[in-house]
Amino acid sequence: VTKNQSPAAILEAIDAGIMAIGENRVQEAISKFSDINRSIEWHLIGHLQTNKVKQAVRMFDLIHSVDSEKLALEINRAAGKIGKRQCVLLEVNISGEETKFGVPRQQVISLTKIICQMDFIQFCGLMTIAPLNADPENARPVFRELYNLYTELQVLHIPNANIQWLSMGMTNDYQVAIEEGSNLVRIGAGIFGPRPQIKK
Ligand SMILES: *Cc1c(COP(=O)(O)O)cnc(C)c1O
Repeated sequence: VTKNQSPAAILEAIDAGIMAIGENRVQEAISKFSDINRSIEWHLIGHLQTNKVKQAVRMFDLIHSVDSEKLALEINRAAGKIGKRQCVLLEVNISGEETKFGVPRQQVISLTKIICQMDFIQFCGLMTIAPLNADPENARPVFRELYNLYTELQVLHIPNANIQWLSMGMTNDYQVAIEEGSNLVRIGAGIFGPRPQIKK
């Protein structure tokens, strides 16, 4: 996860073997894109506003943060215009925290079925952000529940679904996330050190 990191720091990570980078904000990613002139996957991990969809679809290989039918429809339309099939994950708010983006678990199956009918979207799995907590053990039930949902979706054999990614785990809790079945962790500080603050 390279938010707030300079292109030089990102290039250093790529040279060290990083194969995918995750950015939170479309604008920030675009501003770095031409400096990171490497074949690398770009992932959008932050909330996506509908007015940024067109740019996001041009730039990102995987969007982790789809959280509504409306957003999925916008992505589908933008991807169709450039002849792309956009890979996405559905962001799930397992803990029910009001401050978090993501769909409630109760809506995951129905929304997945809807998204899988969209011609220019490839549905690829689920993502969650566990509540921030000093003790990563507290995130375990959240990760376990998302894993259960993930396997539940897989056995439904929804047409056009390719449920292969379970995006969960950050610096503080990735070990627990992996124990609970994550296959896509989003690590920032653990690789780059504490995030440099960007003055706005
Ligand atoms: C910043 C961020 C991360 C990485 O957080 P670290 O604690 O630095 O590992 C992961 N996922 C999302 C959605 C983020 O915004």
